[in-house]
Amino acid sequence: MEFEYNETHQMIKKSVREFAEKELAPESAHYDEVQETPVHWMKKMAEMGLTGMAIPTELGGAGLDYISYSIAIEEISRIDASAGVMLGVNNGLACEPLYKWGTEEQKKRYLTKVASGEWVGAYALTEPGAGSDAAALTSTAELKGGEWHLNGSKIFVTNGYMAKLLITYARTDPGTGPKGISAFIVPDSSPGYQRVKKENKLGIRASDTELIAFDDCRIPEDHLLGTRGEGFKIAMATLDVGRIGIASQALGIAQAAMEAAIKYSKERKAFGGPISNLQAIQFKLADMATQIDAARLLTHRACWMKDQGIKHTTESSMAKLFASEACKRIVDQALQIHGGYGFVKDYPVERYFRDQKITELYEGTSEIQRLVIARSLLRGS
Ligand SMILES: Cc1cc2nc3c(=O)[nH]c(=O)nc-3n(C[C@H](O)[C@H](O)[C@H](O)COP(=O)(O)OP(=O)(O)OC[C@H]3O[C@@H](n4cnc5c(N)ncnc54)[C@H](O)[C@@H]3O)c2cc1C
Repeated sequence: MEFEYNETHQMIKKSVREFAEKELAPESAHYDEVQETPVHWMKKMAEMGLTGMAIPTELGGAGLDYISYSIAIEEISRIDASAGVMLGVNNGLACEPLYKWGTEEQKKRYLTKVASGEWVGAYALTEPGAGSDAAALTSTAELKGGEWHLNGSKIFVTNGYMAKLLITYARTDPGTGPKGISAFIVPDSSPGYQRVKKENKLGIRASDTELIAFDDCRIPEDHLLGTRGEGFKIAMATLDVGRIGIASQALGIAQAAMEAAIKYSKERKAFGGPISNLQAIQFKLADMATQIDAARLLTHRACWMKDQGIKHTTESSMAKLFASEACKRIVDQALQIHGGYGFVKDYPVERYFRDQKITELYEGTSEIQRLVIARSLLRGS
């Protein structure tokens, strides 16, 4: 067993950190405040090779491993969690299913564009009446005259404003549960594709979250992804990878909060010296560092399993569950260390506190991660 990062990992950490500090940090508070999507960030991140990190170079990606991917998402999220999820969705939820289930033609036509960042990709599973219980989705897809006709609506679509392509899920065989769901590639230029509404959010405000409706939306027959009825399996397997991204996002927010707390505790004076001299503050910092290390190890174990081709559903859930809840404790204590100044927008810890919450909700709430882990335990695997 080795606990060392290789030269590529170290190089990625350094170069992505420098990139995020130079290109994203100066604009981060602004885009949070105005709640606008910095589309130019996505272009810059594409130029850095961050939009299809684990996709082979001949398909437009960077040909790297998932540990590299996790390091990059952590470093981007350390500066801006919205940028972290923009990338997480593009890589994990759009490129991954196209790579794993796409035909050669679909990969050539679409994966190359999304992996290279020429197009932004998104993943639309959730519906107004189907979130945790995704198999209850009611959007439909009917094959008529060589075209799929999609009807229904998808809520909370990350990257929904920017996306040129959605991977979406609809019922092709009504009444047959998860087995009646199929996956589809839907370009935003398809007739009947509608961007309906942008959500007004508590955190990750620079990341766009849209409601998208399919009003008799028509796509060619060959835009089915995988086989008919395989959609639910594709959606769930995709989340195994997506959850690595969210765990990495939580790590980035937690790391930023800890660094802010260390800096502030050395500057702030009370009772005749910096508050970092107080054991109560030191213990909080020690707990933060320990939890971040544990979360990073869990996350990189799930990445390693993915790279080895080992099933990692449970390990991805553990990483996401632990990293997101550790992040909650860390941002809370980092804010506490800032005292009243932590509650105002002059210090970035206020944003970390708001941005953290989503990591416990999307790509499966913490309750759903616990269900996944418990089911695997009870199955004896
Ligand atoms: C900012 C944002 C971005 C998002 N991006 C995307 C995206 O890009 N694509 C996409 O498809 N979706 C996306 N989502 C949707 C997200 O994944 C869902 O919100 C999430 O899965 C929870 O579903 P829900 O909101 O319907 O909550 P519900 O499923 O209604 O859950 C409500 C509560 O009940 C609990 N609960 C539900 N079932 C169980 C159970 N069996 N056992 C125990 N507790 C349970 C939940 O944990 C939760 O606490 C996004 C959401 C947000 C807010």
